[in-house]
Amino acid sequence: MTMEPNHRILFEPLKIGPKTTKNRFYQVPHCNGMGHRWPRTMAEMRGVKAEGGWGVVCTEECSIHPTSDLTPATLMRLWDDSDLPVHRLMVDKVHEHSALAGIQLVHNGQSVSNYLSRMPSIAPSPAPNETSNSTQARGMDKDDIKTLRRWFREAALRSREAGYDIVYVYAAHGIMTLLYQFLLKRFNHRTDEYGGSLENRVRLVREVLEDTKDAVGHDCAVAFRFAVDELMGEDGMHSAEAEDIVGSLAELPDLWDVNVADWGNDSLPSRFGNEGSQEDYVRFVKNLTTKPVVGVGRFTSPDTMVSQIKRGVLDLVGAARPSIADPFLPTKIEEGRSHEIRECIGCNMCTTGDYVAYPMRCTQNPTMGEEWRKGWHPERIPAATSENTVLVVGGGPAGLEAALALSNRGYPVTLAEAGEKLGGRVIRETALAPLRQWNRVADYRVNLLSTRANVSTFTQSAMTAQSVMELGHAHVAIATGSHWRTDFVGIHHRFAPEQLHSPMIVTPETIMAGKTPIGPVLIFDDDHYYLGSALAEQLAGNGVDVVLVTPAAEVAGWTHFTLEYEHIQVRLRELGVEIICNHGIAAVGDGFVDLACVFTEKTQRKDVATVVPVTSRISDDSLYHDLLAQKDAWSDHGIKSVNRIGDCYAPGTIAMAVYGGHEFARTLEAPVDPASLFRRENDFEAHKRWPEFPS
Ligand code: ADP
Ligand code: SF4
Repeated sequence: MTMEPNHRILFEPLKIGPKTTKNRFYQVPHCNGMGHRWPRTMAEMRGVKAEGGWGVVCTEECSIHPTSDLTPATLMRLWDDSDLPVHRLMVDKVHEHSALAGIQLVHNGQSVSNYLSRMPSIAPSPAPNETSNSTQARGMDKDDIKTLRRWFREAALRSREAGYDIVYVYAAHGIMTLLYQFLLKRFNHRTDEYGGSLENRVRLVREVLEDTKDAVGHDCAVAFRFAVDELMGEDGMHSAEAEDIVGSLAELPDLWDVNVADWGNDSLPSRFGNEGSQEDYVRFVKNLTTKPVVGVGRFTSPDTMVSQIKRGVLDLVGAARPSIADPFLPTKIEEGRSHEIRECIGCNMCTTGDYVAYPMRCTQNPTMGEEWRKGWHPERIPAATSENTVLVVGGGPAGLEAALALSNRGYPVTLAEAGEKLGGRVIRETALAPLRQWNRVADYRVNLLSTRANVSTFTQSAMTAQSVMELGHAHVAIATGSHWRTDFVGIHHRFAPEQLHSPMIVTPETIMAGKTPIGPVLIFDDDHYYLGSALAEQLAGNGVDVVLVTPAAEVAGWTHFTLEYEHIQVRLRELGVEIICNHGIAAVGDGFVDLACVFTEKTQRKDVATVVPVTSRISDDSLYHDLLAQKDAWSDHGIKSVNRIGDCYAPGTIAMAVYGGHEFARTLEAPVDPASLFRRENDFEAHKRWPEFPS
């Protein structure tokens, strides 16, 4: 296959200061939960993206000094020369594939508590730390500003020494960066030449840009990452101020990397916005500078990318999430295989890596984060080691991914699904309007499977132990999923409440199947992720009165980590959903629910017609157990193994199901030594004292 002619513009080189990128695919800085703690994991992940064709591959934010200590988050550091080996590791991996390596230097000012360094944090003006642990950031004096400039200069010089091609000055993402804190009136209350007028608030940014250019500008491109709008009107950065800032600094950086703030608006979840959602905010930038401009917008469609460039919105197509979901996106476009792009679904499972401080994972790309640890490559998989056939029962995310990866290995695969359509829970959940774009999990796999000669797919084929035995495939993967409990058992209720009037109880599956229950509806959310609020949103959107009850102190608490939290809170309130926190279920009666305060057990009654428990799930594993009961007869039918995967094995996220399906396929007839399930990096601290160490 060859590239579509109109996509050629995406492969034109572009000069960025003293450097030239080979194409327009630019992996902007993004967190990954690996950073300095798991450097080989991080470096291999970046290297795979370079291999996949990204012309520029950047680090995540990289702290320049222990007064900007992001502990417990796991990000990059460049505090002194001892950090250089980690950076060289990444730079070398990126350069191996002739991509440019960029580093996003940061001081986080008042947004960090410096748990590791125990140093007071610093801010334009005295302010509480964002972590609210009763510590405050110290207001900086003029000497502090001079010192900060020196730290930035030293970090830029070290970046050059590590081999980076692009060095960032970073003032974006709201409260997260000290330079942005200086720009913003609500954080900068200074009365000297660094505060007050816009010119004064910009002064430090200008100085750091000048210092960085002076330090490394002959050898490295200097990028300025700037959030042009915080979407909070005149209380924050807004278009008028942003235009003045871009106008006044226009030609100073070699590259403008522009976005909106805060992170939840920048990495906007698909539940709240579509591809290209930042265009209206950032398009003015190119009118005010001759320097190249990069921006993001969860771009996965090459036609949209081309349009951004042709219409003069951007020069470079920035991507964090699309490069995570498909590190080979550029290569696929170049080779005319755009239909094979594994499109990001905008779920933001990836951002949880940063918040929870573990190596990032991706719903769509099960190899993300496993490139070094397990040697998993997103586009290569070991060939089948036999001609054995495999039966996959269940066409949800686990079954679909297993079938696809097995087919990639060359195994003959039969996929049997009881329902009319493939997709399992993805089909069910994406029937809810808020989750619609997640259908890409199923679409991507179903489309590719339909092209495979070694895959036979059967829908409306509910399998029994007998039919599995009769088919007699050598290996059987049971991916039959799970269902939501109706007895309220979950994290809060370890036993079912004594009084449960069952005619009132409706399952989440019923609503996902398109039934609108009689209102008022009480949803009890002890799951704390997206489903409870998505059901509430769907029903309230259809005009049903909804009460959303949770035993937690807040609704959908886990969505803090996916950046959906604030958007969800706004949406629920806009829709008039009544929210009751800190309450469990005392009783479900005929036409009412008694709620009990989790602290005092004091009850309150809600008169409702329907109750929907979203608490926990039960695996649909009866087929597995039926087969297990006949294990002695397996060999008579040629069956060698039967395994559960996905929610059937352990109910979890869609990401876990995809991962489980992939892992099954990768390891089939290639057993992994349980003692070395994945490579660890325990030796790294010792090795990094020497410049040469094994990678
Ligand atoms: P997972 O997330 O693990 O992929 P899902 O619940 O999304 O699980 O998908 C499970 C799929 O398995 C559903 O589409 C369901 O219809 C199907 N299924 C369940 N039992 C059987 C069976 N006995 N035979 C064939 N398909 C089944
Ligand atoms: Fe996209 Fe979700 Fe993967 Fe993140 S985790 S890259 S949002 S598909």
